[in-house]
Amino acid sequence: MIQLYIPLNFLGVLYREIKQSLTDLDKMFVLMEKEREVADRPGAESLPPPLGEGGGGGIANWNVTFEHVNFAYEPARPILHDVTFEIPAGKTVAVVGPSGSGKSTLARLLYRFYDVQDGRITIAGKDIREVTQASVRQSIGIVPQDTVLFNDTVEYNIAYGRPGATHEQVEEAARAARIHDFIASTPKGYQTMVGERGLKLSGGEKQRVAIARTLLKNPPIMIFDEATSALDSANERAIQAELKGVAQNKTTLVIAHRLSTVVDAHEILVLDAGRIVERGTHAALLAKAGRYAQMWKLQQQASGNA
Ligand code: ATP
Repeated sequence: MIQLYIPLNFLGVLYREIKQSLTDLDKMFVLMEKEREVADRPGAESLPPPLGEGGGGGIANWNVTFEHVNFAYEPARPILHDVTFEIPAGKTVAVVGPSGSGKSTLARLLYRFYDVQDGRITIAGKDIREVTQASVRQSIGIVPQDTVLFNDTVEYNIAYGRPGATHEQVEEAARAARIHDFIASTPKGYQTMVGERGLKLSGGEKQRVAIARTLLKNPPIMIFDEATSALDSANERAIQAELKGVAQNKTTLVIAHRLSTVVDAHEILVLDAGRIVERGTHAALLAKAGRYAQMWKLQQQASGNA
């Protein structure tokens, strides 16, 4: 019996292992499928090189448009419906709306994680499906909700924004993102290991590293996905001020969870269940006394400013 049990037990383990690798393979195929979904067209051209090295290039052409965009992750569940807007070069458009309304999906589509099913997205007048993915990503800097740091030094994590950056450039970006003093106060300075196995940084410090990285990359287009997790208000105001500096003269899409961030935007879009239900400047939307005005009132009350 024991003799029989051991091989059967072994077979059980083997079965589970094979099943697991089939699941992994399955996932791999799904990933490959997705890669194929957003593959470059044969002979796709590149967008013009971004400002890159020290900036200096013009911003005149770096506008972004969404034109009648429809999108679904799964065919049975449409997420975006006929979304149309423009971010003129150098301006900021902010998107607000309830959780799940599709705000981050707009950012994912602009970065071309997925292709739209209907309509088109353009950068500098070019449909992003017609140009190389690498050049799209080169032209965009993202400060995400939750920055994932590499298990490497602070220097590496910032320099990642621009391969080949000198230490002076890294330090300059860190100073502009107001993280230099903190880095300098650690025993190993820029050589301090961060990430899961190194020094743990707070949410605000991680965002500052992401801001420094983006400053160094100096892309013409910015996506800022505001953190939902609340930073303390002094920290939050400071980060907002730094971001304003980063977004200066950049074509910027802000996914906002707090309305205080969007007051100065060129246009604010109110998204609900994947549709733009209101749009305009802060003042125009307040005057309209609709959805946005209601959201504003609620947030003011919540923060004790009403
Ligand atoms: P939040 O404010 O909570 O971040 P959001 O407005 O940014 O929300 P999205 O993340 O754009 O919302 O999600 C919009 C809808 O798409 C949600 O219903 C979500 O469940 C769905 N969704 C998001 N990512 C995927 C995915 N990879 N596959 C399938 N559905 C998804």
